[in-house]
Amino acid sequence: MDAAQATLSAPPSVVCQGERFRLYLDETTLQERIGALGDQISADYRDSESPPIFIGVLNGAFMFTADLMRTLSIDCEVDFYKLSSYGEAKVSSGVVTELKHIDAELQGRHVIVVEDIVDTGLSMRYILDRIEELNPASLKAVTLLRKPAAAKVDVEVDYVGFDIDNLFVIGYGLDYGQLARNLRAIYILDEG
Ligand code: 5GP
Repeated sequence: MDAAQATLSAPPSVVCQGERFRLYLDETTLQERIGALGDQISADYRDSESPPIFIGVLNGAFMFTADLMRTLSIDCEVDFYKLSSYGEAKVSSGVVTELKHIDAELQGRHVIVVEDIVDTGLSMRYILDRIEELNPASLKAVTLLRKPAAAKVDVEVDYVGFDIDNLFVIGYGLDYGQLARNLRAIYILDEG
C-alpha cells in the first residue's frame, strides 16, 4: 500500500455524528497485535482434544472476530451472540439486553468469547455467566480493547489486545449511533 492509499484508509481524524475523533490505533498496529493474539491462542489450544468455538459478540466484534480467526493456525468454529449496544449514547447504560441467542451447543466445548471492548465489564460478566450455565469444558475471553479506568465489575479477560484511555472510541466494528463501524482503524473522541 502506498502512502496515499494508507492516508485514505486511515485519515488522521474523522467526524461522526458531528463530533471529531482522532486516529488512535492505526490499521498496521491493530493487525500486528491481532496476529500476536492469534498466535498465542493457537499455541494455547494446539493440543486441545476438540477444536475451540469462538463466540463473537455482535455487532461490535464482527470485524475483530473475522480478522482474529484468519490469523489462527488451529481448527476452530465460530458462532455469534448479540447484545444491545450503547444506541445513540457514548456512555454505558449499565443494562445488558440479549438480542440473539447462541445457536451452537456449548456443553463440553472449549469456548472463547470474542468482544470488541470491555468498558464497565458488565457485558462481559453477563456473557461469561450465561455461558458458564451451559457447562462448557473451558471458558476464556478475548477482547480487542479494554478501558481499565471504566471497570465497574471484576471480570477476568484472558487475552487483551490493548488497554486504552477512558474515552469513547469508534471504528473497526465499534459504532456511534450505528455509524463508523466500517473504519479500518480505531478513532478516539477528540476532547481538545
Ligand atoms: P460494558 O458492558 O463493558 O460497559 O460495554 C461493553 C459494550 O459497550 C461493548 O461491547 C460496546 O458495544 C460498547 N462500548 C463500550 N465502550 C465503547 C466505546 O468506547 N465505543 C463504542 N463505540 N462502544 C463502546
